[in-house]
Amino acid sequence: MWIYQSGKITERIYFLGNMAFPVYLIKGRRTALIDSGVTICGPFILKDLEKYLGNPRDLNLNLLTHSHFDHCGSSPFLKRNIPGLKIGASEVASQVFFNPRAIELIQSLSSGLEKGMELPPGTDISFKGLEVDTILKDGDLIDLGKGAKIKVISTPGHTRCCLSYYLKKDQALFFSEAGGVPDAEGKIQPQFLSSYSDYLTSLRRMAQYPIKIIGLAHGGILIGKEVEGYLESSIKETRDFKERIKRYLDRHGEMKEVVEVIAREDYQKGKIMQGERPYRINLEAMVKVVAENR
Ligand SMILES: [Zn+2]
Repeated sequence: MWIYQSGKITERIYFLGNMAFPVYLIKGRRTALIDSGVTICGPFILKDLEKYLGNPRDLNLNLLTHSHFDHCGSSPFLKRNIPGLKIGASEVASQVFFNPRAIELIQSLSSGLEKGMELPPGTDISFKGLEVDTILKDGDLIDLGKGAKIKVISTPGHTRCCLSYYLKKDQALFFSEAGGVPDAEGKIQPQFLSSYSDYLTSLRRMAQYPIKIIGLAHGGILIGKEVEGYLESSIKETRDFKERIKRYLDRHGEMKEVVEVIAREDYQKGKIMQGERPYRINLEAMVKVVAENR
């Protein structure tokens, strides 16, 4: 089953936001939200939290998968609006959140989406950096109570700062782009922006876990049949995409040309559910990763 609509998934898992930028609420005695979408998601997430928690102030933790604008964008807003909310992320992410160039990129990629948004006066969704309260690392166990234990898995390769979260009781895995992103036809698009070999190692590590639910980076939630073989397909698509980039580099030489050809072949078919600018930034990074490791 592929779930596109927000709502309750299990006793412990709630899909909040929308299918483009899903975030996941995990409920035990305490509560955690995985990721926060883009900056404009903030007010909507607050409303969803009200719906599912009664009071958004009952949210204790915001666990971030990585430092990209579409996963951490609303965290400063949530922190401003939920007193006591603690942010959890990797050490590397905690540093990125204070890097002026990274902040500038987050602001720049968010600004296009913010245009035309009507917000109530005084609503501040700006991203000017983010303080991480809890540094998370591989193997950490976050016990929310009532059987909701989340294991932290370090899954670098999409970025250096990627963490994935595994909710044991539901065998649910939340891996953001570290697991690849299915396009509109369900074909998994690889996302090895920082390292091809780390990315593949991370996929293989995640494939060791029993998984019944996958909370995607974009596109919603997969349950049951759709989960079977997902990570194995992701590994295959990753290998195939690398080989394709290699072939194109041999044929066209220039990295820039390879980016143009792939963008023309893939993006313009309209199957990829991502803004063109972030799509191109990611594709350039992957072509560079392959070119530098040939
Ligand atoms: Zn990302």
